[in-house]
Amino acid sequence: MEEKDKEYIWHPFTQMREWVADTPLIIESGKGSYLIDTEGRRYIDGFSSVWVNIHGHRKKAIDKAITEQLKRIAHSTLLGLSNIPSILLAEKLIRVAHNSGLFSLSKVFYSDNGSTAVEAGLKMAFQYWQLKGGGYRDKTKFLALENAYHGDTIGSVSLGGIDLFHKLYKPLLFETIKVPSPNCYRCPIDKNHPDCNLACIREAEKVLKRHHHETAAFVIEPLIQAAAGMIVSPPGYLSQISSLCKQYNVLLIADEVATGFGRTGRMFACEHEDVTPDIMAIAKGITGGYLPLAATLVTEDIYNAFLGEYKEFKTFFHGHSYTGNPLGCAAAIANIDIFEKENVLHHVRVKSSLLEKLLRQLKDHPHVGDIRQKGLMAGIELVKDKSSKAPYPLEDKAGYRVCLEARNMGLILRPIGNVIILIPPLSISSAILKKMVAIIAAAIETVTGNGFQQ
Ligand SMILES: *Cc1c(COP(=O)(O)O)cnc(C)c1O
Repeated sequence: MEEKDKEYIWHPFTQMREWVADTPLIIESGKGSYLIDTEGRRYIDGFSSVWVNIHGHRKKAIDKAITEQLKRIAHSTLLGLSNIPSILLAEKLIRVAHNSGLFSLSKVFYSDNGSTAVEAGLKMAFQYWQLKGGGYRDKTKFLALENAYHGDTIGSVSLGGIDLFHKLYKPLLFETIKVPSPNCYRCPIDKNHPDCNLACIREAEKVLKRHHHETAAFVIEPLIQAAAGMIVSPPGYLSQISSLCKQYNVLLIADEVATGFGRTGRMFACEHEDVTPDIMAIAKGITGGYLPLAATLVTEDIYNAFLGEYKEFKTFFHGHSYTGNPLGCAAAIANIDIFEKENVLHHVRVKSSLLEKLLRQLKDHPHVGDIRQKGLMAGIELVKDKSSKAPYPLEDKAGYRVCLEARNMGLILRPIGNVIILIPPLSISSAILKKMVAIIAAAIETVTGNGFQQ
């Protein structure tokens, strides 16, 4: 297997020269919170197989839903036809959104990954204002946060603000207007929370004041800028951004791709601050981490703007081959049913407080600069010097080395630069969670103790 991997696969976000020089870990199966490799070794899936897994691997009810659907049909499209699982799921998604207080979301547009869910939202917002006509036609631009991550397609990269991933592509991208990141550990406007009184909101307001007439939408990862290194926004930030968007007649697009489906302790992150976006992108956890599926939920107002005679060409000309894939939708229905049957959100809140308590023990470590957490999403930022917050140079690969140590101790993690990311399956048990944090503590100690100067 190893030779064939190296011969044929180009891995994502991976320096392949290093990959081929190394021994790859090849996963053969999974069970609950564990992944099992081709050598029969077991690892805790500490990153939920890239943030997607919810109820653990081989969850019976989801396995069954997929195999049952498979007996009927694997794929049939929504282009010119409909299919049963996509209809039932759409109803369920709207009901779940309403149960979360997102009452104005009423229509579901399907795609198959987070980037496309965001991208469809961008095109909808753009077209919405074009269809409104008149002076609204000037509303063609997008606001996004510094350090934003919304996916890897050109549209979603245009919103992105992570230089390492995005800067090179600049000539290909459309221009977006950046708003300072609500990053309290490394505040871009040099304030201290909470004394700052959310000064970053005033900065966002300045941008809106200047650009609202030419702005279609503000795109935001609600509560937590995940791929930026789990940057948790201060309480009240999201709701104030939402109010400003209303005040300045700018649509709010919530990218709940990472935060959706219980990650933060609520079904959707927007719920924490009673915010209803105009457009919401969901993906990763939607199928419980089983199959590629995504959805863009919109309000009746946006949907209605696209209605007309065919010859008016108000149609939303967008759709992917696997739109509304029945297997994916069947998995997603089973996923949502489990949330209801097993009181998953309660479990997440209990496990989140345990995680918070466990992580507190790492706070005083000389190379742990900051610990950020919301629900079962957490980041531990390693620093070279705690008092000056000086980071380890990226080429030292401190985060990567900690994760490699952790792997040798039976835990799979994937860092973001110097930030160790913890995103376990929501179903993780207390015992495994404790083991996970103990391994991380040991790995940080090993890496910062030898090789890195104290
Ligand atoms: C992962 C992610 C995306 C992109 O989703 P893909 O399925 O990888 O295309 C978009 N937005 C956020 C917030 C994400 O975390």
